[in-house]
Amino acid sequence: MARSGTKPVLARRLAEADPEGMTHLFRGMTYLACTPGGLELVDQFLEAGVKAEQEARDRSMAALRGGQYGEACRVVASFEATRVFGRGLGIDWHNYESARDEAILRLVFSERLARHTNFDENAIKMIQVAAAMMQIWGTNDPQTYLDRGLKDDEIDWAVETRMLLFRAIETVRRQELEASGIQRVEVLGSGNQTDCQVCKSDNKKEYPIGQAPLLPHEGCSCQAGCRCILLAAE
Ligand SMILES: [Zn+2]
Repeated sequence: MARSGTKPVLARRLAEADPEGMTHLFRGMTYLACTPGGLELVDQFLEAGVKAEQEARDRSMAALRGGQYGEACRVVASFEATRVFGRGLGIDWHNYESARDEAILRLVFSERLARHTNFDENAIKMIQVAAAMMQIWGTNDPQTYLDRGLKDDEIDWAVETRMLLFRAIETVRRQELEASGIQRVEVLGSGNQTDCQVCKSDNKKEYPIGQAPLLPHEGCSCQAGCRCILLAAE
């Protein structure tokens, strides 16, 4: 993902790239905020923004369901690029590179956690799409993408969704660590006393990178899901 400094930097760049447009935009905002008629326009403007975002979410979700991961990324990027301040600190949405997100999405839709073996195909598809939406929209909360009508109240679908996304991100991260020449890694638990036995017993253990357990720990039974991370040990 292309990064270009902080929001003020981005704002300055925008102003430099398009001084007239920015001046116009902010002059318009000031004017709109000052008159009753203007307020109505502000409401319309905000409403249009909400609608545009909903459309972008719908379109990206449809793309994900159709296996078009690059397209899903592009829908999000072009929506973020239309906002004066797109999501994320210093992400330049005009020059967004989707390769990393696409790699994560492919894994979200291909990895199968052992703990998900008994999920039916509907449930699998649901958590895959929810995990993928979390990734491209940058949220930690999958709740809005999960079907409340789903059976089996024993399962916390939000936790399972996060675990799936965690696995995909972790797999890409590990490839990046390996590519950068890291040989040994250390598992670091959350340090919380309520962590499950699996996570606790692996805390601070060192491994050659090829032999480290794939996170999240398959046998993890932490209530909030596995929160262990892999760090370079050197
Ligand atoms: Zn655990």
